[in-house]
Amino acid sequence: MDAEHLSARLAGVASLVPAGARLADIGSDHAYLPAALVLQGKINYAIAGEVVKGPYENAVHEITHQQLTDEIQPRLADGLAAITPEDKIDTVVIAGMGGSLIASILEKGRDKLVGVKRLILQPNVGEKQVRQWLMANRYQITGEKIIEEDDHIYEIILAEPSIVPFYYSQYELEFGPLLLEKKAPVFKKKWQEFCQREENVIAQMQKAQQPPLQKIARLEEKLREIKEVITSDHRYPTN
Ligand code: SAM
Repeated sequence: MDAEHLSARLAGVASLVPAGARLADIGSDHAYLPAALVLQGKINYAIAGEVVKGPYENAVHEITHQQLTDEIQPRLADGLAAITPEDKIDTVVIAGMGGSLIASILEKGRDKLVGVKRLILQPNVGEKQVRQWLMANRYQITGEKIIEEDDHIYEIILAEPSIVPFYYSQYELEFGPLLLEKKAPVFKKKWQEFCQREENVIAQMQKAQQPPLQKIARLEEKLREIKEVITSDHRYPTN
């Protein structure tokens, strides 16, 4: 992968960035995403924020190599501290990290989100924690994608600030409100694979001398719920 050939995951993230956006890519190892968007002519202003020196230096190298120093500023900073009011950032991407880290970066840098019109978040795991943060902070989920690449299935969440409070059910937080509406084949595959893995875990637990019966019962109940979600025709399970 490089800025001219984004992975399917990063291309999915890039597709949600609107033309003309002023972008902050937080955790911008190599700066591939902002570099690709500038090279495509889609944006002409971006911050590439990185907290670790090695990846920051990779970002500096890529920006220089692609001759994009006028359009992309690399910043060595923790999370949203990379953004200043003068940047007038309207779009924040945080991709390729766990959901709890994404939620903590957003929480720690909440004051930097004033004026930001959209968040594009791609947790590798822990999507529910991201959706919980969004609901608690009045960001409405206006787009969701699910993408398979190299045996991994990734979810991408687009969220926009809302002036009215709203509520997502436990199902919507877990599965994604818009992914749940569509139930695309990749979505079903993700949860079928999850069920298979957990069934193996249950089988192992049952072999123990004293099987943890309550834990097994809770897991079995969860798997029943997931199977109901992926096989039922209900568009919107309520809880
Ligand atoms: N965003 C790129 C992508 O999706 O391909 C890079 C993902 S890489 C796995 C995660 C990057 O986030 C690492 O380079 C890591 O150093 C950086 N990171 C982790 N916590 C961060 C924070 N608090 N602020 C800025 N960068 C952070």
